[in-house]
Amino acid sequence: MKITEVKLGRISVPLRVPFKTALRSVNSVEDVIVELHTDTGAVGYGEAPPTGAITGDTTGAIVGAIQDHIAKSILGRDVDDFEDVLQTVQKCIVKNSSAKAAVDMALWDLYGQLYKIPVYKLMGGARKQIVTDITISVNPPEEMARDAVNAVKRGYDTLKIKVGANPELDVARLTAVRQAIGDKTRIRIDANQGWEPKQAVRLLNQMQDKGLDIEFVEQPVKAHDFAGLKYVTERSYVPVLADESVFSPEDALTIMQMGAADLVNIKLMKCGGLYNALKIASAAEVYGVECMIGCMLEAKISVNAAVHLACAKKIITK
Ligand code: MG
Repeated sequence: MKITEVKLGRISVPLRVPFKTALRSVNSVEDVIVELHTDTGAVGYGEAPPTGAITGDTTGAIVGAIQDHIAKSILGRDVDDFEDVLQTVQKCIVKNSSAKAAVDMALWDLYGQLYKIPVYKLMGGARKQIVTDITISVNPPEEMARDAVNAVKRGYDTLKIKVGANPELDVARLTAVRQAIGDKTRIRIDANQGWEPKQAVRLLNQMQDKGLDIEFVEQPVKAHDFAGLKYVTERSYVPVLADESVFSPEDALTIMQMGAADLVNIKLMKCGGLYNALKIASAAEVYGVECMIGCMLEAKISVNAAVHLACAKKIITK
């Protein structure tokens, strides 16, 4: 199965409500779609969203990296030389993790088709079902409480509540949400780097003292501040999950060696695809650090790839 053509396209999907975090506000999904065509007629699909505020990858950068570097490196290659082709994608250009992720997932799609095995089974096959949550955007407390109630009515039993924008409001936000939905729904929160380390400890312990029952907190401090992350992890009663601090497998290993977080969020767009995501999962198995699979305003193709990963490994529990 040889790769004969790399085609790119774009999708634009308006959101019903804006997606708002401490880092950005977005009104639509604007993703790049990759098709890898082969001499057997099989087509592999991939997808990448531009997330300049997080990965630095814009639409133009994703398209340019694929057209000018990745496509030239893999055209004519045999999918059956699987690991070598996956490594070529990672090595042919530095950074550009979103472009790499889009092509990587399309290659896994082809490899699964080649051997007629679902990709989650190729990667481990741990489970056939997963539990997901829904994100409540950061807004004034009353609006978030209303959004949370609507999500619970739609059947969600786990909510991810965005905080970290105007941190002085965060305890009020969580209090309003918890009062509105009662104590049966699980709440996890995501500060998206919006707090300083000491502020994070103070806010998290206030939330704990108020009995708001937070399952864990994502990325309380700046992505590069590994020492600050460790500071929070050691002093907060709420478990800490590293998200923006962990892009590569090397980042994950450093965070785990330092004991800087209790949990790690794996996202295909940060680590460059399933090949590297599996390395993070393996490191996490060694350190006993449970993982979550996240995504960044992605549509069906890349979320589907992420679900295959979540179904593949036992260490992915969130
Ligand atoms: Mg996050």
